[in-house]
Amino acid sequence: AIKLTNLTKRYRDTEVIAPLNLTLPDQQITALIGPSGSGKSTLLNMLAGLTQPTSGQISFDQQVVFDSQQNVNVSPANRGLAMVFQDFALWPHMTVAQNVAFALETKLSSAELTERVAWALDQVGLNDLRDRYPRELSGGQQQRVALARAIAVKPKLILFDEALSALDPQLRASLQGEISNLIHDNHLTAVFVTHDRQEALRIGDHVVLIHDGAVAQSGRATELYQHPQSAFAASFIGPVN
Ligand code: ATP
Ligand code: MG
Repeated sequence: AIKLTNLTKRYRDTEVIAPLNLTLPDQQITALIGPSGSGKSTLLNMLAGLTQPTSGQISFDQQVVFDSQQNVNVSPANRGLAMVFQDFALWPHMTVAQNVAFALETKLSSAELTERVAWALDQVGLNDLRDRYPRELSGGQQQRVALARAIAVKPKLILFDEALSALDPQLRASLQGEISNLIHDNHLTAVFVTHDRQEALRIGDHVVLIHDGAVAQSGRATELYQHPQSAFAASFIGPVN
């Protein structure tokens, strides 16, 4: 499990994440939902190692990756994770296959690399488009490439930050299903940031509701929906909406 203990983040004198304690289950998708500015991206970036917490501890499966008191701060590349962003962040001058291969070129033999890239593209149904450039793809196809690139490194954890927010509703719904299958079939753990309640309930096995840098409620998706524990949770995620 991913464990956050007394985690805080301040910028100058503003506390963006209050002391936060949270456990995220393995081999499940945790949807992190909350209003704009509530701290979702900050939290995700602290998991990734891209933003340094002000204090507290983060561990992945008992391995401490950040601890302010013991001066532990494992680099993003050594945390065994991959990220998928809203803007895809593909290299425009590389083909689909080159984008997926990029992070692995120094790690695998050329035969292993070819096989891995084919596997990853197969998982997202894009093997036919392996020689295209990103500008020759639709938004949904570009996001599938980003997804293939993420799984190609065989991460234990995948972090999504508003990954589907730029796509139209229909495409978004089908990618929610594909991502969910991909994560579960490969026994991965995922944290999926969204400000969209329907998306959180659809994709999240577990849902964490963030409000002003604190956890308003955390639990199974059905539990949050059926038993919101505060007026805020009810208005944000409950059936009366
Ligand atoms: P959104 O849904 O709009 O993406 P979010 O929940 O992801 O919002 P964050 O980006 O985590 O919110 O921001 C949380 C708070 O931290 C905001 O008030 C933001 O202004 C502040 N913040 C984020 N990054 C910085 C920074 N580098 N310096 C100062 N304040 C920051
Ligand atoms: Mg954000």
